Amino acid sequence: MEATGQMSPSDVKFDTKYGPLINGEIVEAADGYIDAVNAATGKVLSQIGRGGKEDVDRAVKAAGEAFPKWADTSIEERSILMNKIADVLEENQDRLKLIECMDTGRALHEFDLDYQLAINQFRYFAGAILTHYEGESRPVENGYLITKKEPLGVCAQIIPWNVPMIMTAFKLAPALAAGNTIVLKPAEDACLSVIEFGKLISDILPNGVVNMVPGYGPEAGQALIDHPDIDKLAFTGSVGVGRLVGRTAGDRILPVTLELGGKAPHIVFPDVDIDSAVENATLGYTFFNGESCILGTRLLVHDDIYDEYVEKLIERAKQVKIGPPTNRSTRLASIINEKQGERVLNYFDIAREEGAKILYGGNRVTVPGHEHGYFIEPTIIEAEPHMRIAQEEIFGPAATVTCWSDIEEVVKVANDVEYGLAAGIMTDDLEKGLTLANRIDAGSVWINSYFNFQTGAPFGGYKNSGVGREYSKEALDAYSQSKTIAAAYKRPPFGTFM
Ligand code: NAD
Ligand code: MN
Repeated sequence: MEATGQMSPSDVKFDTKYGPLINGEIVEAADGYIDAVNAATGKVLSQIGRGGKEDVDRAVKAAGEAFPKWADTSIEERSILMNKIADVLEENQDRLKLIECMDTGRALHEFDLDYQLAINQFRYFAGAILTHYEGESRPVENGYLITKKEPLGVCAQIIPWNVPMIMTAFKLAPALAAGNTIVLKPAEDACLSVIEFGKLISDILPNGVVNMVPGYGPEAGQALIDHPDIDKLAFTGSVGVGRLVGRTAGDRILPVTLELGGKAPHIVFPDVDIDSAVENATLGYTFFNGESCILGTRLLVHDDIYDEYVEKLIERAKQVKIGPPTNRSTRLASIINEKQGERVLNYFDIAREEGAKILYGGNRVTVPGHEHGYFIEPTIIEAEPHMRIAQEEIFGPAATVTCWSDIEEVVKVANDVEYGLAAGIMTDDLEKGLTLANRIDAGSVWINSYFNFQTGAPFGGYKNSGVGREYSKEALDAYSQSKTIAAAYKRPPFGTFM
């Protein structure tokens, strides 16, 4: 096995168990433990707390007690601490990447991007918080008007298993910068790197500011969103659970941020150089093992180049290197677990049944020594836009291809799904690309470069892809509330009311 930096997988030592992180330390889980599993080998890596009501209670209490003091720290102080968190993440990234690689089954090289995004996130909010309160006061006729932003309180944050450190940073950084305290519930299938990170930042932050409760969704997650002392809900994951979180927020009148699924169109104009367009499309549907809501999974290719494009797309798919997650040269590795792997394969059956044509892939492959894992071929499916395979989120390395010739038609097809998170447009004519971008219902549109993440650019979804934006200054507003204080020089004199 190959190493990242100085480390190899065998150098990674795990704690024997990871209970919840409460008030600055890992404590014994009240309701026992569950296995944390290497997605590719099935090997038990460690034990994680099976969080329930009691662990959540303790964590929320710690966050509530830490809140007043944390809310009162100066923005300069919080900014310094956020930069320290970025530094510590950077210093420990080799080890954390390997842990996350084994826990999730994703290819090691991908985590270079994940960790860069996560580190940037803390540095960005370390800076952004310093400007968050600008221009908030002004003199008025009878005195002064002060508009200030205050933190919300204790934030409940629930994240999925696909990109654990990106998700942790997206959730923690803006909430902390804005002066909130946190109870984070990582996903049961991939939380080891998150809790290890939690241990590291506990040396930086005051006790109780960040708490973590691992465990199952219907247990730890449900207990967290139902807790009466929570002031904000933030969730990333499936639409189904997103609805549940949104409903709870509605019942309790809590602010909520939701980042749900996606089914991004990736539209190819006939003016492109086909090789580079195919290269970018292949990255766009296979990165993250296909387990991401932002993937460009609906390739909409112009009729003039369709045949050649599809032929080259298949050739490129054949070259994608499937292998052990910890090998640095691997480009596609293991799906998170059996349930998700079977779900992906089942989608290929659905595709066949509804008359779509699997042009390449569609199978699980065996990687020696990793028989437990679900390694799935990059899969290319010719489909009609209305088919389930072209409408529903697959969360595996698969893309549909569909031919278009009329711009009005492609706009309609691109927007005709329940989601609206991301989109790709490939053209050498930027006027065409920008004009089309305005007409696509998506929170992020990438022209000529799929996954063009720029720090500070709002990230979030239209339609069922969610509510709110992360990764940007908007996120600070999502973790703040405004207060207006109007101070008059003097009270109106006696008799003015009569
Ligand atoms: P999920 O929505 O069930 O899980 C996401 C998080 O929510 C996890 O931490 C989970 O423990 C928690 N959760 C589950 N039920 C809960 C409940 N009742 N109350 C509170 N928290 C709860 O997602 P999944 O089952 O892991 O994946 C299923 C599908 O969701 C995937 O196939 C994919 O389509 C989609 N998904 C989307 C994203 C995304 O980033 N948008 C991430 C993961 C999965
Ligand atoms: Mn795991």
